[in-house]
Amino acid sequence: MSDSAAIAQFKADHLWQAHGWQADATFGVAADGRLLTPTDAPVETLGRWVLPGMPNLHSHAFQRAMAGLAERRGHAGAIFPDREDQKAAAPGRTPQKSEDNFWSWRETMYAFAATIGPDELQAIAAQLYVEMLKAGYTSVCEFHYLHHQPDGTPYAPPEAMSLALIEAAREAGIGLTLLPVLYMSGGFDGRALSARQRRFGHAVDAWLRLLETLRRQQSDEVSVGIALHSLRAVPEPALREVLASELAASGPIHIHIAEQVGEVQDCLATRGARPVEWLFDHAAVDARWCLVHATHLTAAETAQLARSGAVAGLCPTTEANLGDGLFPLADYLDAGGALGIGSDSHISISPVEELRWLEYGQRLATRHRNIAARREGDSVGETLWRAALRGGARAAGRSLGELRADARADLIVLDDASPLLAARDARSALDSFLFAGNTPLVRDVMVGGRWQVRGFRHRDEERIAARYRSVVARLAGG
Ligand SMILES: [Zn+2]
Repeated sequence: MSDSAAIAQFKADHLWQAHGWQADATFGVAADGRLLTPTDAPVETLGRWVLPGMPNLHSHAFQRAMAGLAERRGHAGAIFPDREDQKAAAPGRTPQKSEDNFWSWRETMYAFAATIGPDELQAIAAQLYVEMLKAGYTSVCEFHYLHHQPDGTPYAPPEAMSLALIEAAREAGIGLTLLPVLYMSGGFDGRALSARQRRFGHAVDAWLRLLETLRRQQSDEVSVGIALHSLRAVPEPALREVLASELAASGPIHIHIAEQVGEVQDCLATRGARPVEWLFDHAAVDARWCLVHATHLTAAETAQLARSGAVAGLCPTTEANLGDGLFPLADYLDAGGALGIGSDSHISISPVEELRWLEYGQRLATRHRNIAARREGDSVGETLWRAALRGGARAAGRSLGELRADARADLIVLDDASPLLAARDARSALDSFLFAGNTPLVRDVMVGGRWQVRGFRHRDEERIAARYRSVVARLAGG
């Protein structure tokens, strides 16, 4: 128990706990942002449905400003036309004319990334984080690789872009797990980074220095883990060096693992194993790991990942938008695997839509319903919300996702007045929240004991949106 005195005390008709809804729950919030068992202090009634806020386990914040700018066929339609890497191809393949896929999207993204410095990044990220809070995310893992100036020269100080993200999270009031990314090579063959990738790159020692500097920024609101961009971007000796270093001995470890079939084929061709298989053979993958886009798995890899306790980091709307493929959800849940959700490219910012599409993708592929609910009588919404809270908290490396004494008071209050929740009870409320309609049902959001959103409004949304608008207008104007 925290020994801080309760500064406020609340009541909910239904409070979401790991086992399900608890009726008539009362709880206190301490000055340090943690939950307390109730006392006899005055109580404010919050509403009928109160849930832990959802951790967002995968974000590239800058990509929010290009959402919707890569939906026109062919390079000619790109709003930020690629000049330099026109001939860049999917690993191991020659691109066909007008073949729009992940790799062509990536070129548009690189061209866009080249326009962003620390001020732009802070403005974009703060707007993104406000939108996340209003949608029900209360923390975010930032998989951050936009480290240097566009030509690869470090900023002064070298951590300027990381600090912009920390400042954006503070402005918005969202919890942050910053994951500085190690990015060294442009492919499995160890080729050098392309001109556009140079601003992502570090030698291991420089990256470890960055990590050490950022660890000093840790607080109740900010944690610092590590990320390896992908197996194609981190050569084997570097992986060994990082995992042996003391700085990597604690905190979460994230990696992009098997998003694309081309990536799996290249890994097989150069390393003689599939990415997940190779990683398990070369690293002690455990509950500290988050394997982002574990999309393409064999049955053996699915079972091994589930057994390890590592989190499968799933980003269903981005994976759909980029045409990545489908994760083997049913087999993975049957094997007891941990999962969480991320909004990744931010083509959508909604935990509800991520979880809905995680389920809908499976329904479309199998022509069956209620896939995530593995036992008779289970609810899809409850199963997925519970799993994503648990896995998201693990991937964030922070004490999140549960509303119990001593945990952080990160919570959302649903809109009692919404017609979508009329005549819903404890058996149906969460499924209605997840599946019914497109009107946001998140009315109030508390992070670390502080209200960031009340009555659908973020406390600083006008200023943050105005700055975002002027930054994006400037970027679009070239
Ligand atoms: Zn990613």
